[in-house]
Amino acid sequence: MAENILILYPTSFNTTLADQNKLLTTLREEQFLGETIDFAGKQHYRPGEKFMMLITFLGCSPMIASGEMEKDGEQYCHIAIEGPLERPQFLAGDNIKIPRCPKCGHPYDKWKTVVDEWLEKPNSEIICPDCGETTSATKLRWRKSAGFGQFFIKMWGIFESEAVPSPNLLSLLKECSGFDWQHCYIRNN
Ligand SMILES: [Zn+2]
Repeated sequence: MAENILILYPTSFNTTLADQNKLLTTLREEQFLGETIDFAGKQHYRPGEKFMMLITFLGCSPMIASGEMEKDGEQYCHIAIEGPLERPQFLAGDNIKIPRCPKCGHPYDKWKTVVDEWLEKPNSEIICPDCGETTSATKLRWRKSAGFGQFFIKMWGIFESEAVPSPNLLSLLKECSGFDWQHCYIRNN
């Protein structure tokens, strides 16, 4: 089954969450997270009452917007909190885009090698063959098609670029974690 996921994760891949309970409690109190559900043996959440206010939909999203959420299928909206994970992970799907140098735009066609090296040594650096910029796999311009880190909030049923986290949600997350967050989209066909 195809899946479309909006993922929130800390801007620094190596930040670990000091107090996961605080984050969970806050997200439940603010009604971002609703009731817990069992999803393929794991604990997931239904969107809370205020989910639609904390996520900004850019166009029309008939299924989620109308509250008629499917029990399965591509637009079934549910949320998982993953982490803290033991090691930093790389998340990507079928919508992956060739990453580019943040300085000159050089395309890293062999990004799989770059990612493999990063997974081995997350602090390793790469040097752009075009402009010589020293950077990290995590700092390439992935155009929101990949995520790096040890903590992820995954929201299924949201299509690529259909919605973004609201400024309110981002400041809420910062408040209860102590660091900044960013987002990406993953689609698996
Ligand atoms: Zn470059």
